[in-house]
Amino acid sequence: MKAIIIEKQDDQQTTTLREVGDELLSAGDTLIEVEYSGLNYKDALAICHKPGVIRKWPMIPGIDLAGTVKSSDDSSFKPGDKVLLNGYGVGEVHTGGLAQQANVKSEWLVRLPKGIDAEQAMAIGTAGYTAMLCVLALEEQGITPETGEVLVTGAAGGVGSVAIAILAKLGYSITAVSGRQELKDYLQRLGAKTIVSRSDFEGKVKPLDKARFAGVVDVAGSTVLANAIAQTEYGGVVTACGLAAGMDLPTSVAPFILRGVKLIGIDSVMAPMSKRVEAWQRLARDLDLSLLKEMTHVIGMGDVKETAQHLLAGQLRGRTVVDVN
Ligand code: NDP
Repeated sequence: MKAIIIEKQDDQQTTTLREVGDELLSAGDTLIEVEYSGLNYKDALAICHKPGVIRKWPMIPGIDLAGTVKSSDDSSFKPGDKVLLNGYGVGEVHTGGLAQQANVKSEWLVRLPKGIDAEQAMAIGTAGYTAMLCVLALEEQGITPETGEVLVTGAAGGVGSVAIAILAKLGYSITAVSGRQELKDYLQRLGAKTIVSRSDFEGKVKPLDKARFAGVVDVAGSTVLANAIAQTEYGGVVTACGLAAGMDLPTSVAPFILRGVKLIGIDSVMAPMSKRVEAWQRLARDLDLSLLKEMTHVIGMGDVKETAQHLLAGQLRGRTVVDVN
């Protein structure tokens, strides 16, 4: 089978695309014929040998995969079943989706929701499923289209693009923060009402700023998140899922103790199965598939290394699907 392999020797890592035997696959109870994988931020970090993602070598990267069950020790899965997988350490400590086969634990698998095929599932990928986890968290905390405006940071990226499309379909009014004003038309087509420059969120953080947003979906962290928190209305809800701007959070307790702002952390990797199934059912219902197509481009395995560099350089928009065959 064809696979992307990341190897490490004497602290030097290499990424190659080549034919390998299935003995390279991690142990699992279910063998999947992979049809599509994707390129997420984390995959790009791994493929470009940035620290913190891969913790076992040699490794097949790819935190997402979608395909068909070939065989399973779990009687609830039959050969031919269409499945997807996000996270659980796949592509980090367990061989991942950027290969024509994957051997995984059946308890990690989600059945493809009705109306979504393998390519669309990977167009959504971890980024889109995380966007939906953010939307679910806003809803659980009582944020509705009537409550007020929602801010989405990193708007032209994978999480941001899907979050805007979902929130727009649900009727929310959205302000998008982007470092790329040239993508204004794209962001408006997805459903953003207002586009603001990322530089407005990168400056000095006031403990409290003008209250403008009822909800926030943040992929950036650092001063972008701190400024978003400072601009959140009384009782508003901020969901934090990423660190595109940095790991730090230079804020104060003021928004929390004076405005009752809630900060909700979002993790997709170890999210419980019930939450995953809920998120995927809601994606099938609440994401406009024609917008998904517009935000997605499909590449082959030979393009993965170069595309990963472009992703980390912030040059891609929306989502990247990898056709592994
Ligand atoms: P992408 O690379 O597709 O998008 C990130 C976007 O962030 C970019 O397109 C850009 O948008 C913006 N951005 C880039 N650099 C900066 C910067 N220095 N400051 C502020 N914004 C910046 O990545 P994803 O959307 O897939 O992932 C976004 C983040 O979410 C990543 O940090 C990722 O690790 C995290 N994540 C976390 C998950 C979890 O389980 N918690 C799951 C999935 C992702 P623009 O050009 O519009 O400004």
